[in-house]
Amino acid sequence: MDRMNPNYALDKCAIVGEIVGMKTELVPTPPSLTLVEIMQHFATEEKARQYLEAIRWPNGPVCPHCHNSNQARIWRIAANPAKKIRPGLLHCAECNKQFTVTVGTIFEDSHIPLNKWLIAWYLLNSSKKGISSLQIQRTLGLGSYRSALFMMHRIRHALQDPALSGVKLGGTVEIDETYIGGKAKGMGRGYLGNKTAVVSLVQRDGKARTVVMTRVTGESLNAFLKAHVKASATIYTDQLPAYRPGTKGFKRHEHVNHHVKEYVRGDVHTNTVEGFFSILKRGIVGTFHNVSEKHLPLYLAEFDHRHNTRKMTDGERSIVGLRKMEGKRLMYKSGS
Ligand SMILES: [Zn+2]
Repeated sequence: MDRMNPNYALDKCAIVGEIVGMKTELVPTPPSLTLVEIMQHFATEEKARQYLEAIRWPNGPVCPHCHNSNQARIWRIAANPAKKIRPGLLHCAECNKQFTVTVGTIFEDSHIPLNKWLIAWYLLNSSKKGISSLQIQRTLGLGSYRSALFMMHRIRHALQDPALSGVKLGGTVEIDETYIGGKAKGMGRGYLGNKTAVVSLVQRDGKARTVVMTRVTGESLNAFLKAHVKASATIYTDQLPAYRPGTKGFKRHEHVNHHVKEYVRGDVHTNTVEGFFSILKRGIVGTFHNVSEKHLPLYLAEFDHRHNTRKMTDGERSIVGLRKMEGKRLMYKSGS
C-alpha cells in the first residue's frame, strides 16, 4: 500500500471538502491523523458539518424522510440567524420537509457542537484501549461528565454492527470465553457469581464478534456459533466441556487442554482470541475502571470495531465507523 500516493487516500477513504452548491470538492483525509490535524480538520462546526455531509452523502444529499436523492429536488437554504435558520438546512421538494446531515444519526438533537463530536469520534477510534469519558470531558471542555459519557455511548452504539449476523466467519475460527467485572470479597479465586460472561469468536486473520452470554452452555454456544460461523469452518477451543456440544454441526473441532499446560498443538491454539481478550480487559480495567453489565455490549462493539479495522490507519478506521451512522438515531434516554 503506497501511503505517499495522493490518490491512495482518495480511493480508499474520503473526503472533506468545500461544498460549493451541491457539489463536494474532494480533499483527501490524511491517512493518519495526529491530534493537531484533527483539531484543524474540525476547527469549526461548519467544517465538521461539511465533512459529515461528504461522508454520509458522497453523491449529494439524500432526504432522510422520503429518500429522495434527485439533486434538482433538494434545495439548500441559506443560513439566517435572524430567522433562526441554522446552517446546513436543506429542503426536500418531494416531501416538503427539511433536514440537515445529522437527522437520523446519533448526532441528531445534541447540544454538543458537531466538531466536538467528530474529535471525540477520532479519539475513540485511534486509541487502542479506548479513551475514558473523563478524558473526553477534559479534552473537549464539556460541561459535565454525564454529557461526555452519553456522547461516548452514542458513538459505541453507532459502531455496533447492524449486520452482526450478516456475513458469516469461516476458515479457522477460535472461540473462547472470559469473565468481566464483579470483584467479590472473601469468595476466593474462581468465584464467578457476579461476573459477566463474554464470549468471542475470532477468525484467524479475520474479524471478531463478541457478545455477553448470560449462561455459557453447550446450547448457547452452539446457537452463537451457528448464527455467525459457516458450517464448513474449523473451530478451535480450549477444554471447556460445553464446547463439545457447542461445536456440533461444524466440520471440525479441535481443542487444546490448558489444564495439562497444552497451549499449542500444531496449528491448534486459541492465542488469537486470547490476545483479543487481553486488549479488551486492559481497556475495560485500565481505561474504563468499571463497566456495567447493561453497557458492556457497547464496549464490546467498540473493541470489535477496532479489531476488525486493525490494518487500517486511524483516519480510515474513523471513516469506516462513520459510515455505520445511518439509521442509528439513539433511542435510549441520553440526557445530552
Ligand atoms: Zn423528502
